[in-house]
Parts: sequence; structure tokens; C-alpha cells
Amino acid sequence: MLSGHASGRTGFLLVRRKLVERLRAQGISDPRVLAAFEDIPRHSLIPEVLWGQAYKDTALPIGDGQTISAPGVVARMTAALELEGPEKILEIGTGSGYQAAILSRLVARIISIERIPDLAHAARASLGRLGAQNVELFVGDGSGGRPEDAPYDGIVVTAGGPELPRPLLGQLALGGRLVGPFGPRGAQQLIRVRRVGETQFTQETLGPCDFVDLIGQNGWPA
Ligand code: SAH
Repeated sequence: MLSGHASGRTGFLLVRRKLVERLRAQGISDPRVLAAFEDIPRHSLIPEVLWGQAYKDTALPIGDGQTISAPGVVARMTAALELEGPEKILEIGTGSGYQAAILSRLVARIISIERIPDLAHAARASLGRLGAQNVELFVGDGSGGRPEDAPYDGIVVTAGGPELPRPLLGQLALGGRLVGPFGPRGAQQLIRVRRVGETQFTQETLGPCDFVDLIGQNGWPA
């Protein structure tokens, strides 16, 4: 499986294509989303000792007690954002940078916040190698969003909070979508909120999920 180009774009291309087939079987149908998963070398965002598992549909450890989300979960959340291309997206919880890298192929601009400096630095290097120049990374507590760059066409929260952080709602553009996992530990639900009016929002539950903690002012206490 390891080729001479294992660390580059073409390394693992065949396994990546199999991953894309599995995502398609799980109901991911947007061709742009599937193309992004074929393009982004997930292995390049995780420690080399884990490369053999890079294209399994599981979360994997990335250090500091954090994980890179499973590809199926990232795909579900990406599809739920209903992206067309010109969007500006806020991501809360950069982690490995995988979700941000996928988004970099799908939208105009990504602002991503990570609270653990070491992870943010590693992700910045990985995203640089992938040529994801439309990702801006910030270190800090993103649980209250980033009002400076609002409004966002989409907000993706990739860590689980006890409840939806209220400040995020006001940072959504009209028609904007927020996707994230909320609820008690062990019983999180993935939800999608859509801003349909200045003060009107609709909410859908997309199914159970299991994310690491969203820690901060509008999340769990540290
Ligand atoms: N999107 C990531 C998933 C990483 S796991 C990926 O594709 O790999 C979630 C990340 O959220 C962790 O790195 C964690 O440190 C971070 N996190 C938790 N609470 C946060 C907060 N309040 N602000 C920013 N990042 C946070």
C-alpha cells in the first residue's frame, strides 16, 4: 500500500477512492464533497505510525487528548452545510485541520479556531503543505465564535458542547447554516440550525454522535 509517494497527494489515492465509495454508500451524494475527500490526503494530517488506519472510517488520536474526526462524520457535517462555493465558513475546533482542508476545496474562505496552541501550529503546517491558502487559523476559545469576521454563511462546530452556544446564532448570515454536536456527554446529537430571519431560526436533529469536548466560556468548563 505504501508507495514511493506515500506522503504526497498521490500516495494512498486508491484507498482514498475506496473511502469515497463508502461515503457514497452512506448517502453522501454531492460530487464536490466527494471530490474533496478524494483529494485531501487524510494520512498527511496524522502521526505516521497511524497511516495504516488513515482511511478507515474512525476517529484517531492526534495528541493532547484530541482526535481527528472520522471521515464519515466530517462528510456528513460538510454535506449538511450545503455548500456552493462562494461561502465564508467559521470552524470551531481545528484539531488536525482535516475538516478545514476539506472545506478549503469547497468554499472561498475558512476561519478556523483551535484552543490548543500545539495543535493549531501543527494544523497550520499541514494546511500549508496542502496549499490550503484560504484557511485562516486562530488560537483561542472559539466557543463564542469570532464576531470580527461575522457574518458567516456556515458555522461548523467540531467539538461537543453541553448546548448550542447562543453567541453563534447572531454570527450567522441570513440563510446561513450552523452544524454541530450538542448535548450531554455520551448522548450528543448532531444538529443543524438555519437562520431564516433576523430573529428566526429553524433547527433539525441529524442523529446521534460522539465528539470530544468543546471547552470554553460557551462550552464545558476546562
Ligand atoms: N475538526 C477537527 C476535529 C478535531 S477534535 C479535525 O478535522 O481534525 C476537536 C478540536 O476542538 C480539538 O482539537 C479541541 O482542542 C478543539 N476545541 C475544543 N474546544 C474548543 C474551543 N472552545 N475553541 C476552539 N477549539 C476547541
